[in-house]
Amino acid sequence: MILVTGGAGYIGSHTIKALLGRGYEVVALDNLSTGHREFVLCDEFVEVDLLDYPALKKAFSRYPIRSVIHFAARTAVGESVENPRIYYENNVVGGLNLLRAMFEHGVTEFIFSSSAAVYGDPESLPIPEEHPKRPKSPYGRTKQIFEEILSDYARAYGLRYVALRYFNAAGSDPEGTIGEWHDPEPHLIPIVLEAALGLRDHVEIFGTDYDTPDGTCIRDFIHVADLAEAHVLALERLREGRASSIYNLGTGVGHSVREVIETCKRVTGREIPVVEGPRRPGDPPALVADPTRARQELDWKPRFTSLEEIIATAWEWMLRRHGRG
Ligand code: UDP
Repeated sequence: MILVTGGAGYIGSHTIKALLGRGYEVVALDNLSTGHREFVLCDEFVEVDLLDYPALKKAFSRYPIRSVIHFAARTAVGESVENPRIYYENNVVGGLNLLRAMFEHGVTEFIFSSSAAVYGDPESLPIPEEHPKRPKSPYGRTKQIFEEILSDYARAYGLRYVALRYFNAAGSDPEGTIGEWHDPEPHLIPIVLEAALGLRDHVEIFGTDYDTPDGTCIRDFIHVADLAEAHVLALERLREGRASSIYNLGTGVGHSVREVIETCKRVTGREIPVVEGPRRPGDPPALVADPTRARQELDWKPRFTSLEEIIATAWEWMLRRHGRG
């Protein structure tokens, strides 16, 4: 059985769907602080906070867990600057509790949700896994620290792991009932689509004076279903006996904030009022993955290669979620 922590969250819920599609047995764990209970598509669910070690141990005693895919974490960069304590506690201490419970139950296979936030401002593009790591926020630091912990635990205790560094997760399950839903919503594509739907007056562009072709930031948007697929492949490689490793997950193609807004206008056929504002502190001008290693070693190839397709799935979900679909 596979334990998926954060199984009620955005990427966790899509990964559970992918695992179930391959016939795996799954138990989801979530404290429901930001996740949605109705996103959990597997039958087995435990509402547990990783900081509650006795409850966590009980979950391990109750299910025959062989592998763990760990998503449960706080993920808002801005919030991590204002309140780093909850980031270090949830993302580092919570993760350490999870590893401890795993070892007590003889579980050594681990897939970790890391982030392109570990890189900070890139020296050059696209970014390979060996790029120096200088995270710009407490959030990014929790991911970097946990990657170091995994490496030390692998050497000392025989942990076998894959860390996956996501670029900008986007889109929603094309078939369905789960999608991107954060409250409040910090991410560009859902914000732009909410403006298209009339739920916001306008979209504010955070910075138009970057050293990029149109002056706005550039990001590598990767579809959540492609991220989910990468987790399944990573787990399968680990089970085949491949060594621990780290992979970037992105398409390798960047799109600017203005391009995202224009594409949203085309996909939705609606007007989207735009206001140009100042830079958001901590935003790197451009982040684009070099995903070569994941392609070669995991045989991973994103299915959603155009921004238009990715946004179309996000729009369908947004319409459904607000009862307009
Ligand atoms: N962004 C923006 N307006 C918004 C939200 C985001 O201009 O209302 C920009 C943000 O400054 C960044 C890009 O969109 O350059 C992607 O931001 P997001 O928060 O979606 O992801 P991040 O790259 O921070 O993980």
